[in-house]
Amino acid sequence: MFLPTTPQELTAPPDFVLVTGDAYVDHPSFGVAIIGRLLQSHGYSVAVLAQPDWRTTADFTQFGKPNLAFLVSGGNIDSMVNHYSVALHKRKTDAYSPGGVLGKRPNRATIVYGNKIRESYKEIPIILGGIEASLRRLAHYDYWDNAVRRSILLDSSADLLVYGMGEHQIIEIAESLASGLAVEHLTFIKGTVFKTKTLDFLENPQILPSFKAIKEPGKKSKLEYAKSVIIQHENVKKGENSDILVEEYGNIFVVQNPPAEPLTTAELDRVYSLPYERNYHPKYESEGGVPAIEEVKFSITSHRGCFGGCNFCALGYHQGKQIQARSDKSILAEAEKFAKDSEFKGYIHDVGGPTANFRENPCESPCKRHCLAPKPCKNLRYNHKPYIKLLRELRKIPKVKKVFVRSGVRYDYVLNDPLGGDFLRELCEHHVSGRLKVAPEHVSENVLTAMGKPDFRDFLRFSEKFDEVNERLHKSQYLVPYLMSSHPGCDLADAVKLAEYLKSTGHMPEQVQDFYPTPATISTCMYYTGLNPYTLQKIYVPKGQKEKAMQRALMQYRLLENYELVKKALTRAGRTDLIGHDERALIRPRKGKKIETRKPPKKSAKRPRKKL
Ligand code: SF4
Repeated sequence: MFLPTTPQELTAPPDFVLVTGDAYVDHPSFGVAIIGRLLQSHGYSVAVLAQPDWRTTADFTQFGKPNLAFLVSGGNIDSMVNHYSVALHKRKTDAYSPGGVLGKRPNRATIVYGNKIRESYKEIPIILGGIEASLRRLAHYDYWDNAVRRSILLDSSADLLVYGMGEHQIIEIAESLASGLAVEHLTFIKGTVFKTKTLDFLENPQILPSFKAIKEPGKKSKLEYAKSVIIQHENVKKGENSDILVEEYGNIFVVQNPPAEPLTTAELDRVYSLPYERNYHPKYESEGGVPAIEEVKFSITSHRGCFGGCNFCALGYHQGKQIQARSDKSILAEAEKFAKDSEFKGYIHDVGGPTANFRENPCESPCKRHCLAPKPCKNLRYNHKPYIKLLRELRKIPKVKKVFVRSGVRYDYVLNDPLGGDFLRELCEHHVSGRLKVAPEHVSENVLTAMGKPDFRDFLRFSEKFDEVNERLHKSQYLVPYLMSSHPGCDLADAVKLAEYLKSTGHMPEQVQDFYPTPATISTCMYYTGLNPYTLQKIYVPKGQKEKAMQRALMQYRLLENYELVKKALTRAGRTDLIGHDERALIRPRKGKKIETRKPPKKSAKRPRKKL
């Protein structure tokens, strides 16, 4: 039975009203479903307020004043990312809304909902959670405002913010509030951010640059901003050894406690064994359902956390570096449930996590360094055996025809594992649907350094092995490389290098992924400050829409509509040698158009790879 979504389903005010920017989908891939079911399993009554009308207070007061608190989430992805493309154009659809229709949640949903609740109830505790709040927990560069914004805790009139996945925190908060503690006294809970007027009660907090020091767009301010970002990112990687961080806002401080303990396997198993309906609420049926369920309905989350450390990804900053894995027993039980579902056609869509083949912690004691790039750390452990064993068990379940691995596979981790070959064979033989998506992201050394990604030669080695294995299996399967344009550190010459590589392989990406400066990533800090926060050295940032368009066009240089952009890019990069008729050429000169062709550039001596 779904959690109540109308007052009629309740006999008394609930303990918690769970407000979300998404339609109500009762599935463990939706943070709100997990938090709601977890609280219910601890005896709390919860009502779900999905996509309330934010123009009035009516929806927010329909359940009456909850006994303990309002819990607010912007949804499964940041509402601004959900609404706008990287070119700042409004998107056309919204997979997290009924019928995929846009416009069911406001921009900056967490802030709007928090303030609407405060307008409705002056006193009630408001607790923020979810990815939007988690990544905006401290001052952050906002691409849509093109400015540094305050902690979302201050802009949303809320009292407390939960960062990360939130299971430990929400139960500790519930028990504290239920015991009568006032929300302003909840300053001790790991994995939360609170505000205070005094620091006297804190032990050895680390003071970050103040909001005043980082908000101005000037050089000095940007330097302070970059310093703050690196302290925050390195701090979260230290897990339980992390410090308390303090950000000053004049007469008030925003304080981040160390991250919550990672869930144990038993705790994670319990979270995934809760009685989810594994579907969207039936009230959306008449609107065509909620498209986002398709991707996850027959997918299994086998673990959380990632130690990949890609600079354009905020997952480590949200979920942490430590891997939290479910037991095989729990995963097999979920798959057996699929077999009983009338809609199940025998295909398990995915078994994975942030990175499919990261199912164990990188080593005994996580540290703030990068585990894999530019070079794998000597302490890094490799082990694909448990994953292979799990996939074999899943294949044996009656009615399961095929188990796919669609989560990203880190190929450098496979390459460096002495037994990685066994995993690759298993993957190609049983779990790939003709094509395997992997993310080299670029070919150019200095771009990969800025991304925190492995050397491109690792990708070439992996694709050779992939082809060898498929040949032996008599299968024609191929790799689909994810590639990104306009990442900080990538200038036109680098973009041309990528185009030359694509030319040499004959591969043309169906889609071009343009770097998107989403909240709280290291790369977004590079984008905003023009500095590499690890080295505080200057870094080139392609910002102008023209150059970004040229970089995108180069990745699809064969498209006729890209001809002029590609020609302009090659001219600007001094690579008109690639306009011609020889096999290296990306485009042909057009009739009657005189092109001043240049010789190809000399191969420059190999530059030593800079340490991150
Ligand atoms: S593997 Fe190396 S870099 Fe990664 S956490 Fe362990 S010691 Fe740190």
